[in-house]
Amino acid sequence: MTDGIESRLREERKFVPSAEFSAHARVQSHAEYVSLYTQSIESPEEFWRDQTCDLVFRTRPTSFLEWNLPKAKFFGGATLNITESCLDRHLKTSARTRAAIVWEGEPGDTRTLTYFELHREVVRLSTQLASLGVRAGDRVAIYMGMVPETAIAMLACARLGATHSVIFGGFSSDALRDRINDCGAKLLLTQDGAWRRGSIVPLKQMADVAVAQTPTIEKVVVLRRIGAEKAPVTMKEGRDVWWDDLLAREAAPEHRAIAEKPAAFDAEHPLFVLYTSGSTGKPKGVLHTTAGYLAGVHVSSKYVFDLREGDLYWCTADVGWVTGHSYIVYGPLSCGASCLMYEGAPNFPDPGRFWKIIERHGVTILYTAPTAIRAFIRWGDDWPNKADLSSLRLLGSVGEPINPEAWTWYHRVIGGGRCPIVDTWWQTETGAIMLTTLPGACYSKPGSTGLPFFGVDIAVVKDRGEPCGTNEGGKLVVKSPWPSMARTLYNDDERYVSAYWKQIEGVYFTGDGARKDEDGYFWVVGRIDDVLNVAGHRIGTAEIESALVSHPFVAEAAAVGKPDELKGQALVVFVTLKQGQTANDETKANLSKHIEKEIGKFARPDSIRFADALPKTRSGKIMRRLLKEVASGATEAKGDTSTLEDLGVLAKLRADED
Ligand code: ATP
Ligand code: MG
Repeated sequence: MTDGIESRLREERKFVPSAEFSAHARVQSHAEYVSLYTQSIESPEEFWRDQTCDLVFRTRPTSFLEWNLPKAKFFGGATLNITESCLDRHLKTSARTRAAIVWEGEPGDTRTLTYFELHREVVRLSTQLASLGVRAGDRVAIYMGMVPETAIAMLACARLGATHSVIFGGFSSDALRDRINDCGAKLLLTQDGAWRRGSIVPLKQMADVAVAQTPTIEKVVVLRRIGAEKAPVTMKEGRDVWWDDLLAREAAPEHRAIAEKPAAFDAEHPLFVLYTSGSTGKPKGVLHTTAGYLAGVHVSSKYVFDLREGDLYWCTADVGWVTGHSYIVYGPLSCGASCLMYEGAPNFPDPGRFWKIIERHGVTILYTAPTAIRAFIRWGDDWPNKADLSSLRLLGSVGEPINPEAWTWYHRVIGGGRCPIVDTWWQTETGAIMLTTLPGACYSKPGSTGLPFFGVDIAVVKDRGEPCGTNEGGKLVVKSPWPSMARTLYNDDERYVSAYWKQIEGVYFTGDGARKDEDGYFWVVGRIDDVLNVAGHRIGTAEIESALVSHPFVAEAAAVGKPDELKGQALVVFVTLKQGQTANDETKANLSKHIEKEIGKFARPDSIRFADALPKTRSGKIMRRLLKEVASGATEAKGDTSTLEDLGVLAKLRADED
């Protein structure tokens, strides 16, 4: 690969947090951010000791890091049970009666669990998991929807020292089977069914198909969410047990003891295995351990979301993704925050659902993804405008580069112009947020993912690791280990080392392309594998896509390269228009002219294709890998499609070929 990625798109707007926001924020000025950041890099031991002093360690760490690739040992000497930081510690404070989880089901039913109640439920479930033979080091699979029991299940496993692997409830039986077999889970927790857009996803039935081919699963615990009438299930004698029946069992004193006075584990005890969303290929079983992960998600939740008493924080991700692990469960709970959890689709029964939820519960912090924001833009401003969103004080974004136009819409229509936006760049592998702006301390720039978070030594470099200059595009790398980083890929140290630590010697390679501007702000320009080479210009997908989205007709866009005899690569763009706009040649010509103006003549697409929808992963990311195949006329998808949300979208794109 040749060095360097060009960057043409310039976004000059800056949004400064209000004096009022800053005055109450945890970090109130840029100078304060710089001083903490400097400490985190120069004296990490001291920084992490100070910042984790409220967490519960049975024995305190005696060292910060021993690093011997691929083995990273953070917080050596420490022992802990992560659930004591997330639950037990709050029972001694005013958080005892505070809501930990405020839940809304898709049909409209609601439930609130205080920290006291959440702790009690976790202890009850871990007691019974112990009675089923779950022990420290075992793997447990969780195939559930967005119900409080999913968080309870994760915490119950962690309490016993069992490694959980949450498999997103939208996955097929095959995807579930492969993931269970990869991690060798002994027990599976699932539910009869989950609500999704008014219909039922028959989780238990799908689990049955998977479990028929998973030799390691001994027991299946089934939550009754829907009921036998709408979600009939078959229970296999000796293997399957209803969740409520299990909890009703008399517990043996030794099992109760394990749950009530849980063991402390080594700092590097494995906490969970999570498969990545698979935007670029076969999902990887990312392994996270205990103390470093907890430190990372705790400190980032506290500072990035500026959590305080009185907040109701809502992260709309599914618990099945890393965002759900770090920023629905472990991070916010370790801070004693009140978290909203919603079961269903954003457009059920209508596209106003999210805004109604915010209004009904008084959500103060909203953390969502660009894919959702672009869908809301498409559905029109009336839906959010009809709701009272005045309780919101802070907005967040994660998952993909956010196009500047989507950013400003989010700021204006959802945030009423008053809420700072934190765009957070990170990955399943990084465990916690790596790049962002601290909301009260730094201004933000639409489309930029901001500055390095505490403890993150990150840079943009050329192919052999030489630093790139200001605004010069290159590879985004992390120069030294950080506490919440993945420790390996499950059972595959070799792939872990070669995928992340050997591409550029001595640094962690993220797989993303980026540039750093004159203010030190990072701009992710897309994935390195997707970088386009048009007429000799190497350019990131995000730049072309953001240029398209800045046209008033366009809701969403994806840019891919197609092999071309003359040019090497032809530029093909897939465009989804806003409601009411017409897909015709005139629009194509306008879009082409628009790109020429925003980026340059060379970037005029060779082909513009209109689409009702783009192929996405189940976590909502555009799958350019598949679009590349469609663009070059492939009739069948190659490679892993287990994470593709809707196969029909691909078929339609092929049929629509111009
Ligand atoms: P796979 O690694 O299996 O292909 P994936 O990379 O989509 O899947 P995740 O770990 O969920 O799996 O996503 C991390 C990636 O998402 C990042 O590497 C980056 O490409 C993108 N991303 C996440 N947040 C942002 C953001 N704020 N801005 C730009 N890109 C982002
Ligand atoms: Mg990735």
